[in-house]
Amino acid sequence: MSFDELTNSRFFAYRDGDLFAESISVRSLAEQYGTPLYVYSREAMLEVFDGYRRGLEGIPHLICYAIKANGNIALIKQLAERGAGADLTSGGELALAQKAGVPGERIVFSGVGKTRDEIEYALNAGILMLNVESEPELEAIDQIAGEMGKKAPVAIRVNPNIDAKTHPKISTGLREHKFGVPFEECAPLYERAAAMPNIEVRGMASHIGSSLADASPLLQALNRLLGLRDDLKSKGIEISYVDVGGGLGIRYQGESPLTSHEFASELKKRIEGAGVTLVIEPGRSIMGNAAVLVCRTVYVKKTSYRTFAVVDAAMNDLARPAIYGAHHNIVPVCAKEGTLQKIDVVGPICESSDVFGKDRELPELQSGDLLAICSAGAYGYAMASYYNGRVRPAEVLVEGSEARLIRLRETYDDLWRNQVLD
Ligand SMILES: *Cc1c(COP(=O)(O)O)cnc(C)c1O
Repeated sequence: MSFDELTNSRFFAYRDGDLFAESISVRSLAEQYGTPLYVYSREAMLEVFDGYRRGLEGIPHLICYAIKANGNIALIKQLAERGAGADLTSGGELALAQKAGVPGERIVFSGVGKTRDEIEYALNAGILMLNVESEPELEAIDQIAGEMGKKAPVAIRVNPNIDAKTHPKISTGLREHKFGVPFEECAPLYERAAAMPNIEVRGMASHIGSSLADASPLLQALNRLLGLRDDLKSKGIEISYVDVGGGLGIRYQGESPLTSHEFASELKKRIEGAGVTLVIEPGRSIMGNAAVLVCRTVYVKKTSYRTFAVVDAAMNDLARPAIYGAHHNIVPVCAKEGTLQKIDVVGPICESSDVFGKDRELPELQSGDLLAICSAGAYGYAMASYYNGRVRPAEVLVEGSEARLIRLRETYDDLWRNQVLD
Protein backbone atom coordinates (compact mmCIF):
# COMPACT_ATOMS: atom_id res chain seq x y z
CA MET A 1 0.00 0.00 0.00
CA SER A 2 1.32 3.42 -0.87
CA PHE A 3 1.55 6.22 1.66
CA ASP A 4 -0.91 8.21 -0.45
CA GLU A 5 -3.69 5.80 0.44
CA LEU A 6 -2.78 5.82 4.11
CA THR A 7 -3.66 9.50 4.61
CA ASN A 8 -7.35 8.60 4.14
CA SER A 9 -7.96 11.91 2.37
CA ARG A 10 -7.30 13.16 -1.12
CA PHE A 11 -6.58 16.56 0.44
CA PHE A 12 -3.45 15.10 2.08
CA ALA A 13 -1.52 13.75 -0.89
CA TYR A 14 2.08 13.40 -2.11
CA ARG A 15 3.72 15.49 -4.79
CA ASP A 16 7.16 14.22 -5.81
CA GLY A 17 7.50 12.41 -2.51
CA ASP A 18 6.47 15.37 -0.32
CA LEU A 19 3.23 15.34 1.63
CA PHE A 20 0.94 18.26 0.85
CA ALA A 21 -2.09 19.60 2.65
CA GLU A 22 -4.20 20.86 -0.24
CA SER A 23 -1.58 22.98 -2.07
CA ILE A 24 0.93 23.55 0.73
CA SER A 25 3.80 21.30 1.67
CA VAL A 26 3.45 19.95 5.17
CA ARG A 27 7.19 20.29 5.67
CA SER A 28 6.98 24.05 5.07
CA LEU A 29 4.18 24.28 7.64
CA ALA A 30 6.22 22.35 10.19
CA GLU A 31 9.17 24.67 9.58
CA GLN A 32 7.06 27.80 9.91
CA TYR A 33 4.86 26.82 12.85
CA GLY A 34 6.92 24.17 14.63
CA THR A 35 5.86 20.73 15.81
CA PRO A 36 3.76 19.04 17.06
CA LEU A 37 1.24 20.71 14.80
CA TYR A 38 -2.34 19.96 13.80
CA VAL A 39 -2.82 20.74 10.10
CA TYR A 40 -6.43 20.98 8.87
CA SER A 41 -7.75 21.00 5.32
CA ARG A 42 -10.78 23.25 4.89
CA GLU A 43 -11.88 21.40 1.77
CA ALA A 44 -11.73 18.01 3.46
CA MET A 45 -14.06 19.21 6.19
CA LEU A 46 -16.50 21.02 3.90
CA GLU A 47 -16.67 18.17 1.41
CA VAL A 48 -18.12 15.90 4.09
CA PHE A 49 -20.48 18.60 5.34
CA ASP A 50 -21.70 19.31 1.80
CA GLY A 51 -22.27 15.57 1.31
CA TYR A 52 -24.71 15.61 4.22
CA ARG A 53 -26.37 18.72 2.86
CA ARG A 54 -26.82 17.33 -0.65
CA GLY A 55 -28.07 14.03 0.72
CA LEU A 56 -30.81 15.80 2.68
CA GLU A 57 -31.75 18.27 -0.04
CA GLY A 58 -35.49 18.58 -0.50
CA ILE A 59 -36.52 17.65 3.02
CA PRO A 60 -36.59 19.98 6.02
CA HIS A 61 -33.36 19.34 7.91
CA LEU A 62 -30.72 20.76 10.21
CA ILE A 63 -27.11 19.56 10.46
CA CYS A 64 -25.88 20.24 13.98
CA TYR A 65 -22.12 19.72 14.06
CA ALA A 66 -21.12 17.98 17.32
CA ILE A 67 -18.69 20.47 18.82
CA LYS A 68 -17.13 17.95 21.18
CA ALA A 69 -15.32 16.36 18.21
CA ASN A 70 -13.32 19.56 17.70
CA GLY A 71 -14.05 22.87 19.38
CA ASN A 72 -11.84 25.19 17.37
CA ILE A 73 -13.98 28.26 16.67
CA ALA A 74 -12.30 28.99 13.32
CA LEU A 75 -13.39 25.53 12.11
CA ILE A 76 -16.89 25.84 13.59
CA LYS A 77 -17.23 29.22 11.88
CA GLN A 78 -16.48 27.67 8.48
CA LEU A 79 -19.29 25.18 9.04
CA ALA A 80 -21.70 27.78 10.43
CA GLU A 81 -21.20 29.90 7.32
CA ARG A 82 -22.31 26.89 5.27
CA GLY A 83 -25.49 26.56 7.29
CA ALA A 84 -24.42 24.19 10.05
CA GLY A 85 -25.89 24.31 13.52
CA ALA A 86 -24.29 22.86 16.62
CA ASP A 87 -24.82 20.00 19.03
CA LEU A 88 -23.55 20.78 22.52
CA THR A 89 -22.54 18.76 25.53
CA SER A 90 -21.84 21.69 27.89
CA GLY A 91 -22.25 25.38 28.53
CA GLY A 92 -18.67 25.87 27.41
CA GLU A 93 -19.58 24.45 24.02
CA LEU A 94 -22.52 26.87 23.85
CA ALA A 95 -20.03 29.69 24.39
CA LEU A 96 -17.84 28.29 21.60
CA ALA A 97 -20.84 27.98 19.25
CA GLN A 98 -21.90 31.56 19.94
CA LYS A 99 -18.35 32.84 19.52
CA ALA A 100 -18.15 31.05 16.16
CA GLY A 101 -21.42 32.66 15.03
CA VAL A 102 -23.83 29.72 15.19
CA PRO A 103 -27.36 31.16 15.59
CA GLY A 104 -29.33 29.95 18.63
CA GLU A 105 -32.15 28.51 16.56
CA ARG A 106 -29.68 26.02 15.07
CA ILE A 107 -28.37 24.72 18.40
CA VAL A 108 -29.36 21.56 20.30
CA PHE A 109 -28.02 20.70 23.75
CA SER A 110 -27.42 17.03 24.68
CA GLY A 111 -25.85 15.57 27.82
CA VAL A 112 -26.94 13.73 30.97
CA GLY A 113 -25.82 16.31 33.52
CA LYS A 114 -26.87 19.80 32.47
CA THR A 115 -26.52 22.11 35.46
CA ARG A 116 -28.81 24.97 36.46
CA ASP A 117 -26.32 27.49 35.06
CA GLU A 118 -26.12 25.65 31.76
CA ILE A 119 -29.91 25.44 31.46
CA GLU A 120 -30.30 29.17 32.17
CA TYR A 121 -27.59 29.97 29.65
CA ALA A 122 -29.24 27.80 26.98
CA LEU A 123 -32.66 29.36 27.57
CA ASN A 124 -31.20 32.85 27.35
CA ALA A 125 -29.41 31.92 24.13
CA GLY A 126 -32.73 30.86 22.57
CA ILE A 127 -31.52 27.46 21.42
CA LEU A 128 -33.71 25.16 19.32
CA MET A 129 -34.07 22.48 21.97
CA LEU A 130 -32.65 20.94 25.09
CA ASN A 131 -32.38 17.21 24.61
CA VAL A 132 -33.58 15.96 27.98
CA GLU A 133 -32.04 12.78 29.34
CA SER A 134 -34.05 12.12 32.53
CA GLU A 135 -37.18 12.98 34.47
CA PRO A 136 -35.36 15.05 37.13
CA GLU A 137 -33.69 17.03 34.38
CA LEU A 138 -37.09 17.73 32.81
CA GLU A 139 -38.40 18.90 36.18
CA ALA A 140 -35.39 21.16 36.67
CA ILE A 141 -35.82 22.70 33.22
CA ASP A 142 -39.52 23.35 33.87
CA GLN A 143 -38.72 25.03 37.15
CA ILE A 144 -35.85 27.16 35.83
CA ALA A 145 -37.82 28.23 32.75
CA GLY A 146 -40.71 29.22 35.04
CA GLU A 147 -38.43 31.39 37.17
CA MET A 148 -37.14 33.06 34.01
CA GLY A 149 -40.63 33.61 32.60
CA LYS A 150 -39.80 31.46 29.59
CA LYS A 151 -41.07 28.34 27.94
CA ALA A 152 -38.28 25.81 27.41
CA PRO A 153 -38.24 23.95 24.09
CA VAL A 154 -37.32 20.30 24.67
CA ALA A 155 -36.80 16.98 23.01
CA ILE A 156 -36.60 13.80 25.04
CA ARG A 157 -33.53 11.74 24.30
CA VAL A 158 -34.87 8.29 23.67
CA ASN A 159 -32.65 5.33 24.42
CA PRO A 160 -33.92 2.98 21.71
CA ASN A 161 -32.03 -0.08 23.03
CA ILE A 162 -30.26 -0.65 19.74
CA ASP A 163 -26.80 -2.13 19.58
CA ALA A 164 -24.64 0.15 17.47
CA LYS A 165 -22.09 -2.71 17.22
CA THR A 166 -19.22 -0.32 17.71
CA HIS A 167 -16.45 0.04 20.30
CA PRO A 168 -17.96 -0.39 23.81
CA LYS A 169 -16.57 2.97 24.94
CA ILE A 170 -18.40 4.84 22.17
CA SER A 171 -21.65 2.86 22.13
CA THR A 172 -24.51 4.73 23.82
CA GLY A 173 -27.86 3.29 22.74
CA LEU A 174 -28.37 0.27 24.99
CA ARG A 175 -30.51 0.10 28.12
CA GLU A 176 -27.49 -0.32 30.38
CA HIS A 177 -25.93 2.94 29.15
CA LYS A 178 -26.38 6.16 31.08
CA PHE A 179 -27.77 7.97 28.05
CA GLY A 180 -31.37 8.86 27.31
CA VAL A 181 -34.68 7.57 28.63
CA PRO A 182 -35.54 3.87 28.13
CA PHE A 183 -37.85 3.55 25.14
CA GLU A 184 -40.86 2.26 27.03
CA GLU A 185 -40.65 5.09 29.57
CA CYS A 186 -40.69 7.82 26.93
CA ALA A 187 -44.41 8.08 26.18
CA PRO A 188 -45.38 8.65 29.84
CA LEU A 189 -42.54 11.18 30.20
CA TYR A 190 -43.74 13.04 27.10
CA GLU A 191 -47.21 13.18 28.61
CA ARG A 192 -45.78 14.67 31.79
CA ALA A 193 -43.71 17.13 29.76
CA ALA A 194 -46.72 18.22 27.71
CA ALA A 195 -48.58 18.98 30.93
CA MET A 196 -45.78 21.10 32.43
CA PRO A 197 -46.49 24.83 32.36
CA ASN A 198 -43.04 25.97 31.24
CA ILE A 199 -42.14 23.24 28.76
CA GLU A 200 -42.77 23.22 25.04
CA VAL A 201 -42.43 19.73 23.59
CA ARG A 202 -40.70 20.24 20.28
CA GLY A 203 -38.73 17.17 19.34
CA MET A 204 -37.42 13.71 19.88
CA ALA A 205 -33.75 12.77 19.97
CA SER A 206 -31.42 9.81 20.04
CA HIS A 207 -27.72 9.13 19.54
CA ILE A 208 -26.67 5.52 19.65
CA GLY A 209 -22.93 5.53 19.20
CA SER A 210 -19.96 6.50 17.13
CA SER A 211 -17.85 5.03 14.31
CA LEU A 212 -20.82 3.40 12.56
CA ALA A 213 -20.04 1.86 9.18
CA ASP A 214 -23.49 2.28 7.71
CA ALA A 215 -26.90 3.78 8.39
CA SER A 216 -28.70 0.62 9.50
CA PRO A 217 -28.52 1.18 13.29
CA LEU A 218 -29.73 4.75 12.79
CA LEU A 219 -32.53 3.58 10.49
CA GLN A 220 -33.62 1.14 13.18
CA ALA A 221 -33.56 3.95 15.73
CA LEU A 222 -35.44 6.20 13.33
CA ASN A 223 -38.15 3.55 12.90
CA ARG A 224 -38.61 3.35 16.63
CA LEU A 225 -38.69 7.15 16.96
CA LEU A 226 -41.26 7.55 14.19
CA GLY A 227 -43.39 4.82 15.79
CA LEU A 228 -43.29 6.70 19.09
CA ARG A 229 -44.07 9.92 17.24
CA ASP A 230 -47.29 8.37 15.86
CA ASP A 231 -48.20 7.08 19.29
CA LEU A 232 -47.73 10.56 20.77
CA LYS A 233 -49.73 12.14 17.97
CA SER A 234 -52.72 10.00 18.93
CA LYS A 235 -52.35 11.44 22.43
CA GLY A 236 -52.36 14.99 21.10
CA ILE A 237 -48.59 15.57 21.42
CA GLU A 238 -46.96 17.00 18.28
CA ILE A 239 -43.30 16.34 17.47
CA SER A 240 -41.79 18.67 14.86
CA TYR A 241 -38.09 17.73 15.06
CA VAL A 242 -36.63 14.24 14.96
CA ASP A 243 -32.95 14.20 15.88
CA VAL A 244 -31.14 10.93 15.16
CA GLY A 245 -27.75 12.03 16.50
CA GLY A 246 -24.36 11.55 14.90
CA GLY A 247 -22.17 8.53 14.63
CA LEU A 248 -21.05 7.94 11.05
CA GLY A 249 -17.53 6.53 11.11
CA ILE A 250 -14.51 7.37 8.99
CA ARG A 251 -11.73 5.39 7.43
CA TYR A 252 -8.92 4.99 9.93
CA GLN A 253 -7.39 1.74 8.71
CA GLY A 254 -8.93 0.49 5.48
CA GLU A 255 -12.57 0.57 6.62
CA SER A 256 -15.12 1.68 4.04
CA PRO A 257 -17.93 3.44 5.84
CA LEU A 258 -20.63 5.11 3.78
CA THR A 259 -19.91 8.61 2.55
CA SER A 260 -21.84 11.40 4.24
CA HIS A 261 -23.90 11.73 1.06
CA GLU A 262 -24.85 8.04 0.99
CA PHE A 263 -25.59 8.04 4.70
CA ALA A 264 -27.80 11.13 4.52
CA SER A 265 -29.61 9.80 1.44
CA GLU A 266 -30.63 6.68 3.36
CA LEU A 267 -31.99 8.73 6.23
CA LYS A 268 -33.85 10.95 3.80
CA LYS A 269 -35.47 7.96 2.09
CA ARG A 270 -36.83 6.75 5.41
CA ILE A 271 -38.11 10.07 6.73
CA GLU A 272 -39.34 11.72 3.53
CA GLY A 273 -42.99 12.68 3.85
CA ALA A 274 -43.06 12.14 7.62
CA GLY A 275 -43.79 15.81 8.16
CA VAL A 276 -40.93 16.48 10.57
CA THR A 277 -37.61 18.28 10.38
CA LEU A 278 -34.72 15.81 10.48
CA VAL A 279 -31.81 16.81 12.71
CA ILE A 280 -28.44 15.05 12.57
CA GLU A 281 -25.41 15.63 14.80
CA PRO A 282 -22.28 14.50 12.96
CA GLY A 283 -18.91 15.10 14.59
CA ARG A 284 -16.20 12.58 13.76
CA SER A 285 -17.20 12.17 10.11
CA ILE A 286 -16.79 15.89 9.42
CA MET A 287 -13.49 16.49 11.22
CA GLY A 288 -11.78 13.09 11.44
CA ASN A 289 -9.99 12.96 8.11
CA ALA A 290 -9.66 16.73 7.82
CA ALA A 291 -6.42 16.85 9.83
CA VAL A 292 -3.06 15.25 10.42
CA LEU A 293 -0.91 15.68 13.50
CA VAL A 294 2.61 16.49 12.33
CA CYS A 295 5.47 15.56 14.61
CA ARG A 296 9.24 15.40 14.45
CA THR A 297 11.43 12.45 15.28
CA VAL A 298 13.58 13.33 18.29
CA TYR A 299 15.59 10.11 18.47
CA VAL A 300 15.69 6.81 16.71
CA LYS A 301 16.28 4.30 19.47
CA LYS A 302 17.42 0.88 18.32
CA THR A 303 17.59 -1.94 20.79
CA SER A 304 18.29 -5.57 20.06
CA TYR A 305 14.52 -6.11 20.23
CA ARG A 306 12.86 -3.20 18.50
CA THR A 307 13.35 0.10 16.71
CA PHE A 308 11.57 3.09 18.23
CA ALA A 309 11.03 6.49 16.68
CA VAL A 310 10.61 8.76 19.68
CA VAL A 311 8.63 11.75 18.40
CA ASP A 312 7.82 15.17 19.85
CA ALA A 313 4.06 14.52 19.93
CA ALA A 314 2.54 12.44 22.70
CA MET A 315 -0.66 11.08 24.16
CA ASN A 316 -1.41 14.50 25.65
CA ASP A 317 -1.68 15.85 22.06
CA LEU A 318 -3.64 12.90 20.61
CA ALA A 319 -5.07 10.56 23.21
CA ARG A 320 -7.09 8.14 21.09
CA PRO A 321 -4.42 5.44 20.75
CA ALA A 322 -3.77 5.50 24.50
CA ILE A 323 -7.45 5.67 25.54
CA TYR A 324 -9.16 3.42 23.00
CA GLY A 325 -6.27 1.50 21.51
CA ALA A 326 -7.30 3.35 18.34
CA HIS A 327 -5.34 2.89 15.14
CA HIS A 328 -4.03 5.93 13.28
CA ASN A 329 -2.02 5.51 10.11
CA ILE A 330 1.41 7.15 10.23
CA VAL A 331 3.15 8.40 7.11
CA PRO A 332 6.47 10.13 6.42
CA VAL A 333 6.19 13.79 5.46
CA CYS A 334 9.02 13.23 2.98
CA ALA A 335 8.72 9.75 1.48
CA LYS A 336 12.29 8.68 0.72
CA GLU A 337 13.13 5.86 -1.63
CA GLY A 338 14.39 2.68 -0.08
CA THR A 339 13.20 -0.30 1.83
CA LEU A 340 10.69 -0.02 4.62
CA GLN A 341 11.38 -1.00 8.18
CA LYS A 342 9.15 -1.92 11.08
CA ILE A 343 9.22 0.91 13.58
CA ASP A 344 7.35 1.67 16.80
CA VAL A 345 6.35 5.33 16.86
CA VAL A 346 6.21 6.49 20.47
CA GLY A 347 5.85 9.70 22.45
CA PRO A 348 8.05 10.81 25.35
CA ILE A 349 5.42 10.56 28.13
CA CYS A 350 6.03 8.27 31.10
CA GLU A 351 3.24 5.81 30.28
CA SER A 352 3.58 2.56 28.37
CA SER A 353 0.40 3.50 26.51
CA ASP A 354 2.08 6.55 24.96
CA VAL A 355 2.48 4.73 21.65
CA PHE A 356 1.12 5.99 18.32
CA GLY A 357 1.83 2.82 16.40
CA LYS A 358 3.66 -0.48 16.66
CA ASP A 359 5.49 -2.21 13.81
CA ARG A 360 4.71 0.56 11.34
CA GLU A 361 6.28 0.18 7.92
CA LEU A 362 8.26 3.35 7.44
CA PRO A 363 11.40 4.37 5.58
CA GLU A 364 14.58 4.38 7.64
CA LEU A 365 14.23 7.37 9.97
CA GLN A 366 16.74 9.77 11.41
CA SER A 367 16.35 12.28 14.16
CA GLY A 368 14.70 15.38 12.70
CA ASP A 369 12.50 13.48 10.22
CA LEU A 370 8.87 14.55 10.13
CA LEU A 371 5.93 12.16 10.42
CA ALA A 372 2.21 12.76 9.98
CA ILE A 373 -0.29 10.92 12.15
CA CYS A 374 -3.41 10.64 10.00
CA SER A 375 -7.13 10.98 10.71
CA ALA A 376 -6.43 13.20 13.72
CA GLY A 377 -9.08 15.90 13.26
CA ALA A 378 -11.81 14.48 15.51
CA TYR A 379 -11.34 13.81 19.22
CA GLY A 380 -7.71 14.85 18.71
CA TYR A 381 -7.02 18.35 19.97
CA ALA A 382 -10.38 18.15 21.74
CA MET A 383 -8.88 15.64 24.18
CA ALA A 384 -5.48 17.29 24.51
CA SER A 385 -4.15 17.92 28.02
CA TYR A 386 -1.17 19.28 29.93
CA TYR A 387 -0.16 15.86 31.19
CA ASN A 388 3.56 15.58 31.91
CA GLY A 389 3.88 19.36 31.86
CA ARG A 390 3.46 19.44 28.12
CA VAL A 391 1.84 22.48 26.54
CA ARG A 392 -0.78 21.91 23.88
CA PRO A 393 0.17 22.17 20.20
CA ALA A 394 -0.66 24.78 17.55
CA GLU A 395 -3.34 24.37 14.89
CA VAL A 396 -3.17 25.56 11.28
CA LEU A 397 -5.98 25.73 8.74
CA VAL A 398 -5.07 25.27 5.07
CA GLU A 399 -7.24 26.70 2.34
CA GLY A 400 -5.80 26.03 -1.11
CA SER A 401 -2.32 27.49 -1.10
CA GLU A 402 -2.88 29.59 2.04
CA ALA A 403 -2.43 28.59 5.63
CA ARG A 404 -3.31 30.43 8.79
CA LEU A 405 -2.74 29.80 12.43
CA ILE A 406 -6.07 29.08 14.13
CA ARG A 407 -4.63 28.30 17.55
CA LEU A 408 -1.33 29.44 19.02
CA ARG A 409 1.03 26.92 20.50
CA GLU A 410 0.82 27.26 24.25
CA THR A 411 3.78 28.40 26.33
CA TYR A 412 5.01 27.42 29.77
CA ASP A 413 3.05 30.37 31.21
CA ASP A 414 -0.09 28.47 30.27
CA LEU A 415 0.96 25.65 32.58
CA TRP A 416 0.42 27.77 35.70
CA ARG A 417 -2.00 30.39 34.31
CA ASN A 418 -4.75 29.48 36.79
CA GLN A 419 -2.59 28.21 39.60
CA VAL A 420 -2.18 30.15 42.80
CA LEU A 421 1.24 30.36 44.43
CA ASP A 422 1.08 31.06 48.20
C1 LIG B 1 -20.64 12.54 20.55
C2 LIG B 1 -22.00 12.88 20.11
C3 LIG B 1 -22.27 13.14 18.76
C4 LIG B 1 -21.22 13.05 17.69
O1 LIG B 1 -20.86 11.75 17.43
P1 LIG B 1 -19.86 11.40 16.22
O2 LIG B 1 -19.69 9.95 16.32
O3 LIG B 1 -18.62 12.16 16.45
O4 LIG B 1 -20.56 11.80 14.96
C5 LIG B 1 -23.56 13.50 18.41
N1 LIG B 1 -24.53 13.58 19.34
C6 LIG B 1 -24.32 13.32 20.65
C7 LIG B 1 -25.44 13.44 21.61
C8 LIG B 1 -23.05 12.97 21.07
O5 LIG B 1 -22.83 12.70 22.36
